[in-house]
Amino acid sequence: MKLRNLENAIRDSRHIVCLLGLSVATDCGCFDYRDRDSSYDVEERYGYSPEEIFSAAFLNTRTKQFFDYYREEILGKLGEPGPDLLTLKKMEDDGKVRAVITRSIYGLPQRAGIKHVVAMHGSVYNYHCAHCGRTYTIDHILKTKGIPLCQSCENPIRPDIVLDGEMIPNHLITEAAGEVERADTLLVLGCTMKATLTQTCIKYFEGSRIILINEEEDYSDNAADLVYHGKPRDVLPKIYR
Ligand SMILES: [Zn+2]
Repeated sequence: MKLRNLENAIRDSRHIVCLLGLSVATDCGCFDYRDRDSSYDVEERYGYSPEEIFSAAFLNTRTKQFFDYYREEILGKLGEPGPDLLTLKKMEDDGKVRAVITRSIYGLPQRAGIKHVVAMHGSVYNYHCAHCGRTYTIDHILKTKGIPLCQSCENPIRPDIVLDGEMIPNHLITEAAGEVERADTLLVLGCTMKATLTQTCIKYFEGSRIILINEEEDYSDNAADLVYHGKPRDVLPKIYR
């Protein structure tokens, strides 16, 4: 696949919806709890695996340990939006990209200035009190230590993210499905065609073209119409200026 072909496909698209994969966040410096090395390191230091900690059951029963991990590993490694996200922002400004859908929780597209984002697993930038529902921003969490408590009712505040054992809110699935249905081109960045995000969204796609830009080669690549193997941060700025 030549870059010129991708460039032409993007130029010919009128309504692009982008599926933003998890490796985009990792490449921006965000913590990757699925990475085996960091997973081992987390278990050494916290006594639990990242999968165990990142669950609703753990948050409810070991709230202090959850926040020790969460503050250090998640909030400590928020990363910065890379050139791929800045290119997507330009594509949105130009009316090319109409929506960005992601399972990543780091708020990267929003920080890049992208307006229409469907964050299916929520964002570490938003919080609420599980008891009274009062909402908080990340700034409040960063100003506190230990378990963050609600200023109204003194119950623990939690991040608006989907933990293991929790469901994606229905309205977000409906919103993502609606966006994908309206697209003529699906732009899959930084994940495979068999990733959960792609699998969740692709069944709603009625457009003509799927473009996949991902570093990792996979047997599922042939489900896309145009495939380019490379990091989205290296490729996207070259095909859209
Ligand atoms: Zn409260």
